[in-house]
Amino acid sequence: MQITGQQVVLASRPDGAPKAENFRLEKVTVRPPGEGEILLASRYLSLDPYMRGRMDDRKSYASPTPVDGVMEGEVIAEVIYSNHPDFTVGMHVLSRSGWSSHCVSNGDGLIPLDDRFKPITTALGVLGMPGLTAYTGLMNIGKPAPGETVVVAAASGPVGSLVGQIAKKAGARVVGIAGGKEKCQYVGETLGFDEVVDHRSPDFVSELAKACPNGIDVYLELVGGEVWNAVFPLLNPYARIPVCGLIAQYNANDSQKGTDRLPVLMREILSRSILFRGFIVREYWDQRPEFLDEVAPWVASGDVRFQEDIVFGLKNAPEAFMGLLEGKNFGKLIVQFD
Ligand code: NDP
Repeated sequence: MQITGQQVVLASRPDGAPKAENFRLEKVTVRPPGEGEILLASRYLSLDPYMRGRMDDRKSYASPTPVDGVMEGEVIAEVIYSNHPDFTVGMHVLSRSGWSSHCVSNGDGLIPLDDRFKPITTALGVLGMPGLTAYTGLMNIGKPAPGETVVVAAASGPVGSLVGQIAKKAGARVVGIAGGKEKCQYVGETLGFDEVVDHRSPDFVSELAKACPNGIDVYLELVGGEVWNAVFPLLNPYARIPVCGLIAQYNANDSQKGTDRLPVLMREILSRSILFRGFIVREYWDQRPEFLDEVAPWVASGDVRFQEDIVFGLKNAPEAFMGLLEGKNFGKLIVQFD
């Protein structure tokens, strides 16, 4: 068995926004699986904002991708050859094999996918890591109550769109923030959020205030930057802020840090009894069974809506990923392997 595969490696570390030269597409020879091993062919690759952090050599909750190392990522893969009793040819699994067309595995860490994942790409989006993030961040930290106002930015994306739809089910009034007319229309009309505000509008700050006449009780932070500055003055006493992502600053290098607002922030956290709580989804991984029990039926019945943005071909992954950091994706960004 002689298979030639392809992979994308980190060619160099970016300074600011990633550029094409920071990635390199390589051909590789895939070794045959040994005793107790399987061969996986990647079908879909999830592209996610956290990948930008792994490109830097900076202390974080996860170690950086080494230069010349394969870009990290979660993949839906099909078993195409098996020497392992638990995996049969044709099975689909979730694998952390990265931006790579093939992988030889002994089965450790693989998650078999059953027929709740329809289409199968939902295992990377609404019923995958982003969906679990939305569900657990909102339910464990945000805890929306009926009649409260919940605000979520990046509202057309896989995390934000599910946060808003679950908050609606909890009886909250939901205000979404998105970039541009098409995304805003989707969030209001298809997802059914009560109000949508465009963060690219020159009047964004006053439009957000108008959309939240009773202030904000839960703000699920996905963005930071100017969106945070507009949200901050509207927070009610006892507001809850699950701090989940700060995509607006992922490309900033040290010279672009801006004015230090920390003293103001700390004063207001104190005087308004605001609870801030950072979280990484892996903290709640044990809640995956109840998340799937509750949310998969909503997805199957069409009660929860989702949008996927599927790009064809591993060679197009770097460009698609660079676009994700600029908001060019519309919905869960996935690469379909050629
Ligand atoms: P999306 O697919 O929604 O993509 C990111 C979106 O962010 C863009 O499409 C864009 O939407 C918006 N955006 C980008 N830059 C800005 C900006 N400067 N100001 C305002 N909006 C901006 O991403 P996900 O749903 O996958 O992830 C959302 C956030 O959640 C990210 O910050 C991510 O890092 C975080 N996350 C955290 C996890 C955790 O465990 N803590 C796990 C998963 C995700 P638009 O055009 O509408 O502005």
